[in-house]
Amino acid sequence: MALLSTTDFPFVIEKRDDFSHGRIDLHSHTHCSDGSLSPQTLIDRAVNYQIDVLAITDHDTLAGIDIAQRYINEQKVPITLISGVEISTAWQGFEIHIVGHNFDQNNDQLLQLITEQQQAREQRAITIGEKLAQCGFPDAYDDAKKSAGKGSITRAHFAKVLFQQGHVSTMQKAFDQYLGKKGRNTQKAYVKPTWCSIEQAVDVIHVAGGSAVMAHPIRYDLSAKWLRRLIVHFKECAGDGLEIVLPQMNPQQRQIMLNYCLEYDLHASTGSDFHHPNKWSDLGKNLILPDGAKPVWTLWS
Ligand code: AMP
Ligand code: MN
Ligand code: MN
Ligand code: MN
Repeated sequence: MALLSTTDFPFVIEKRDDFSHGRIDLHSHTHCSDGSLSPQTLIDRAVNYQIDVLAITDHDTLAGIDIAQRYINEQKVPITLISGVEISTAWQGFEIHIVGHNFDQNNDQLLQLITEQQQAREQRAITIGEKLAQCGFPDAYDDAKKSAGKGSITRAHFAKVLFQQGHVSTMQKAFDQYLGKKGRNTQKAYVKPTWCSIEQAVDVIHVAGGSAVMAHPIRYDLSAKWLRRLIVHFKECAGDGLEIVLPQMNPQQRQIMLNYCLEYDLHASTGSDFHHPNKWSDLGKNLILPDGAKPVWTLWS
């Protein structure tokens, strides 16, 4: 395994063999979507973990990026922030997440897509609320909305409400019993979303000058045959790479994902998908790209 370093990388990343955390994390969330930390607290945490390069990739919103960058400038925090976003898309009945990096945040087409995705989120949240009301939880929408504040409202906000009010014993159970979709089975409060297509997400990220990677390919609950179909489609849409390293992935899964990158000439990304401090994963932890991967940041220079 090579430490994260490449001559093409536009930032100076020092090689350190004793370093237990990776020094780059290209997938993280703040309370501008379903993360629990403010952008400022996330930056402080990243610095404590000695991360040099961080991307904030909230769900269908760019709101955290400016707040974090202002904080970095004011406090002179030694970190490079990469613009990021995680866009929800619909493909063959599955919800596929596309992560954009290093784009112009003021691009009109990107802002237009974000606005449409926000409208889709709001509409879906209202319908989820109606379904949960029928299940006996009349205040679920109001409570989830309050929890999301001005941020992007997600199913995670509903799951938190159901958990905190004692209707389910874990957040996962909220998905299993009410909010989720597994194969053809949809739960009581599942609402088919109206996300954009993979092609639209990739196109708009490119128009804004960024690169587009498929987030966490292992998490879509797809058979090998369907995962390959998805990767072929993503490649046809001009997607740039796959997120092949996440903290929870074992070496075999990383190898399989690397093989897809090599087979389809795709770049590789790495990120923790950090939402909250927890026992199993953290910012920048266990994120080293395997040898042979072409890092997505080589596209940025
Ligand atoms: P949304 O983007 O509104 O569909 O919300 C999905 C978010 O809920 C994901 O980004 C995860 O952070 C969180 N989540 C937690 N557990 C699950 C699960 N079992 N299925 C789907 N999403 C989950
Ligand atoms: Mn999330
Ligand atoms: Mn995701
Ligand atoms: Mn994510």
